[in-house]
Amino acid sequence: MIDLDSLLSSLWPIAQARVPDTEVIRIEDAFDRVLAKPVISGLDVPGHDNTSMDGYAVRCADFLSCSQFAVSQRVPAGSAPQPLEQGTVARVFTGAPIPEGADAVIMQEEATVGEDGLVAFANLPKSGQWIRRRGEDIVAGQVLVPSGTRLNAFKVSLIASVGVHEVEVYKRLKVGVFVTGSELQRPGQPLSPGQIYNSNEYVWRGLLRAMHVEIESLGIVPDTLSATCDALRKLRGCDVVISSGGVSVGEEDHVKPAVESMGTLSSWKVATKPGKPLAVGELNRDDGSTCRFFGLPGNPVSSSVAFLLLVKPFIALMQGHALEAVDWRLRLREKTADFDWLRPDTRREEFLRVRDTPQGLTLFPNQSSGVLTSMDQSTGLVRLPVGKVVRRGDSLSYVDFQDLMQ
Ligand code: AMP
Ligand code: MG
Repeated sequence: MIDLDSLLSSLWPIAQARVPDTEVIRIEDAFDRVLAKPVISGLDVPGHDNTSMDGYAVRCADFLSCSQFAVSQRVPAGSAPQPLEQGTVARVFTGAPIPEGADAVIMQEEATVGEDGLVAFANLPKSGQWIRRRGEDIVAGQVLVPSGTRLNAFKVSLIASVGVHEVEVYKRLKVGVFVTGSELQRPGQPLSPGQIYNSNEYVWRGLLRAMHVEIESLGIVPDTLSATCDALRKLRGCDVVISSGGVSVGEEDHVKPAVESMGTLSSWKVATKPGKPLAVGELNRDDGSTCRFFGLPGNPVSSSVAFLLLVKPFIALMQGHALEAVDWRLRLREKTADFDWLRPDTRREEFLRVRDTPQGLTLFPNQSSGVLTSMDQSTGLVRLPVGKVVRRGDSLSYVDFQDLMQ
């Protein structure tokens, strides 16, 4: 058996070493994509000193000798002003450039226009007031968005604000999935005796969808070697292939020999509970390249947990995400147990389904790896070292599902 940390340390460089293909797309289509090349601003934002108020652009020094001013020009937003004539003011509107020579704006509420058209002001201006300075938000040459960033609404808007309309992003990964089990039936179909519904596929679909990958699913594959080999052959053009079930060493478990017939298995048993057995390997393609393979256990909790802890970060790294963003171990937090766990596993570390409550972490009563409600009714996982007995009040390492699923 290999322990989880060793497996992660060996897997993640493989994911990072993949040089993903990139494509250039319009910013309208860039939401949720991962940036492959940093966006560098070619502009200062704002591009010129401008007024943040409707009012008058003035030269402060003029107030030493004058108390009434002629309006020498009118500057709406979007126009180019003349230099400000001495002893005069410029009528300006929010966003308008500040005329050369002006050093403050007085808001229109503080201005009185006489019958002669001259303007008097209620207060003396302070140098710089109501002026937004050139480059105060962004300066030309600045890295606006670094590569490896997933583009959300604010980031795309920021990119638009410097006039960039195309970005280079990583191509979407293609993930192939299938579930093995002659007992499985599709939701919506009646169950024959001994059948159960395929639920595993939907955990992955939901989580993969949130990762913005393309999904190619073969659905249910019966427990035969030839059907399993067929499925692998059909999907090995994908970047990653994931299966569930059939990874034990029973007569009805064909994933191991099927993978070995067209690739290699690098690891077989992982010392986690739930989670063992778990197959990690590669499928060879005809052109000599390979595709990554993860054979997850059939039990719904085991397959979900293995997906969250191993497969999801692996795919995220392949997408170009930074390691700090995907390493869920950095999101583990110390929390107090509000339960006892007196018979820990002596060979494997455990991931217990718990609820984070104001009283501390409470344990979902049924920790069986087949009980899917334990995932739904919990808020996260406790990572419990091998052989650790837990007593109420102990401090435990907890990771929230929100952090695992984001
Ligand atoms: P296996 O790993 O194939 O031995 O399956 C372990 C357990 O998980 C068995 O009880 C299976 O019926 C169940 N199982 C396997 N695949 C799925 C699936 N796709 N959805 C729900 N349960 C499954
Ligand atoms: Mg099976």
